[in-house]
Amino acid sequence: MEEILFLNPGFSHTIWGGERLRTEYHYEEPGSDIGECWGISAHPTAESTVINGTFAGTKLSELWSEHKEVFGYAQGDVFPLLTKIIDAKADLSIQVHPDDVYAKEHENGALGKTECWYILDCPVDATLVIGHNASSQEELKDMIHNGKWKEFIREIPVKKGDFIQIDPGTVHAIKGGILLLETQQSSDITYRVYDYDRLQNGKPRQLHIEQSIDVITVPAASVENSIKAAAHLAENHMNLLHSCKYYDVYQLKVNGEFESRKIVPFMLASVTEGEGSINGSPVKKGDHMIFTAAMETISVKGQLELILSNS
Ligand code: ZN
Repeated sequence: MEEILFLNPGFSHTIWGGERLRTEYHYEEPGSDIGECWGISAHPTAESTVINGTFAGTKLSELWSEHKEVFGYAQGDVFPLLTKIIDAKADLSIQVHPDDVYAKEHENGALGKTECWYILDCPVDATLVIGHNASSQEELKDMIHNGKWKEFIREIPVKKGDFIQIDPGTVHAIKGGILLLETQQSSDITYRVYDYDRLQNGKPRQLHIEQSIDVITVPAASVENSIKAAAHLAENHMNLLHSCKYYDVYQLKVNGEFESRKIVPFMLASVTEGEGSINGSPVKKGDHMIFTAAMETISVKGQLELILSNS
């Protein structure tokens, strides 16, 4: 079996998307509204297929259910994680995700969504929406029902290399100009709280006010507990950015050579900058792959940055 499975990504076109996934990441996707590259995905909305080796052409969901050996016989009905690169040319809607319990009950057994962001690029004065300023459930309802968005929304400055964990119940939104890598549970359940009164095809997009009020955590976690600077972490070292029930996420910046034993059954890896090789296979910025159970040692050479995760 191959040590590394390279994946063909899927794409989603959105009102806030741009062209950078083609011009800077060299994906052959037409259009000027490319919002998301679903790099490692077994989700039916945009699924990855294997590029190389014995399983070339196979969908990731099929591989997960029919070839458990690839993943070291890891448990679970569905492939657990999803990696995306997001190019926000314009602001995304203000949104929140449910947890597993709420999603199971209200969304036909779907998974909840815990996600995290690694900022790949942004303007010097960039901001994101993380959390809100309501201090009680009453204040939350008042701000949302009465459209007090300026008071409600908590906008914080971010820079390249910042890492942001977004637990279910966290109000969040990507602002225009930001390019980021998202690692998340394999779910697409999003409740939109506010969409800046924008129109798509002449109509406002659907909002989910009641569901949002149900799931938003009050008060929000502190800013310090929501964001972590990762730009200056050590080179040639697996830097753990976050560990939670659903995933561990690592940043690895290689300058020269890096080698380590692979201690988990399988890992997701995306090259976010530079080029080089992994276990002898050439890789470059924008490549997405899975380190399979057959891989015992991770050996990286070159000048490149990777974001990795395991479930
Ligand atoms: Zn989200």
